[in-house]
Amino acid sequence: MTNKKLQQQFDELRSQLNTWSREYYSLDKPSVPDDVYDQKYQELVKLEKAHPEMIIPDSPTQRVGGQILTGFEKIDHEIPMLSLGDVFSKEELADFVVNLDQTVHQQIDYNCELKIDGLAISLVYRSGKFVQGSTRGNGQIGEDITQNLKTINAIPLELSEPVDVEVRGECYMPKASFVELNQRQEEQGKQIFANARNAAAGSLRQLDSRITAERKLSTFIYYLMEPEKFGIITQSEALDKMRSWGFKVNPDYRVAHNMDEIRAYIDEYQQKRASLPYDIDGIVIKANPFKVHEEVGNTVKVPRWAIAYKFPPDEQETVVHQIEWTV
Ligand code: NAD
Repeated sequence: MTNKKLQQQFDELRSQLNTWSREYYSLDKPSVPDDVYDQKYQELVKLEKAHPEMIIPDSPTQRVGGQILTGFEKIDHEIPMLSLGDVFSKEELADFVVNLDQTVHQQIDYNCELKIDGLAISLVYRSGKFVQGSTRGNGQIGEDITQNLKTINAIPLELSEPVDVEVRGECYMPKASFVELNQRQEEQGKQIFANARNAAAGSLRQLDSRITAERKLSTFIYYLMEPEKFGIITQSEALDKMRSWGFKVNPDYRVAHNMDEIRAYIDEYQQKRASLPYDIDGIVIKANPFKVHEEVGNTVKVPRWAIAYKFPPDEQETVVHQIEWTV
């Protein structure tokens, strides 16, 4: 392939992915299903692997999320809010586990969690009181959505202990709220939302908190910052601690001691997926000991101590409606 042709191929892939990302993250209005985006993204990953000299800092493979919406104060994330690397087969997942075990020279435990299909939020507490909440934004800078988050019942305004802490998790719209919302939209002659994730994202980034309050959002918290401050050394303990403070933590996590247990967890939740009251789009596997997180660190975009196993596309979700953001 000539250099010109190669450059053109890179430009086309990046431009297509950037357009879809803008629709998805900034406009909450995707025009293609996630698996179509994921396939294109994998094409770019492959091409960059074959031609690493062509990687540029603002390639979609090097950046988290989208643009920051105007109308909200900006919040600097002292510790960036990252994305997750993903795999689409159990073989790739087994490779990830073997590589990580080899890197740290021991067979470690993995905390298996559901991958909630919502959007990442950060919550800051001072002396146990909720003081600030934000979106992930582009990972470095998020939007201040404190007032909107205060309308969500699952978010405690005061914790059971007067701690200074920042936690992160997923804000999502339960399936029942999503169906109800679309019914209301239809009755009012407004366009329906493509999926619960987009409805949650749009509902959270409303300038009028009363609209957010009507949307019946919820949260699952899964990440504790500076766990060493509290003497906590594993992810599973961190989840227990956050629950004891009053956060809503997804109860379906499990520590797996080997790949067979990870496979069994995946199979179990792939089966249960349809009956859960909220959407999941995969499973997240995290090294359970925090010392492994410190040892292997992160890339510019993803942690090296965790990976998402993405489920094959849900048939219902492969039909993405062209929606108009009407509220
Ligand atoms: P992601 O959604 O694939 O994974 C990272 C996110 O998972 C985290 O930021 C967090 O918000 C979430 N998460 C849920 N449960 C979690 C848990 N238990 N522990 C840790 N994190 C958890 O990555 P992303 O960067 O947010 O988005 C990329 C994905 O978005 C793509 O793979 C694609 O599917 C979708 N997308 C779609 C379009 C489109 O046009 N349809 C465009 C852009 C992106």
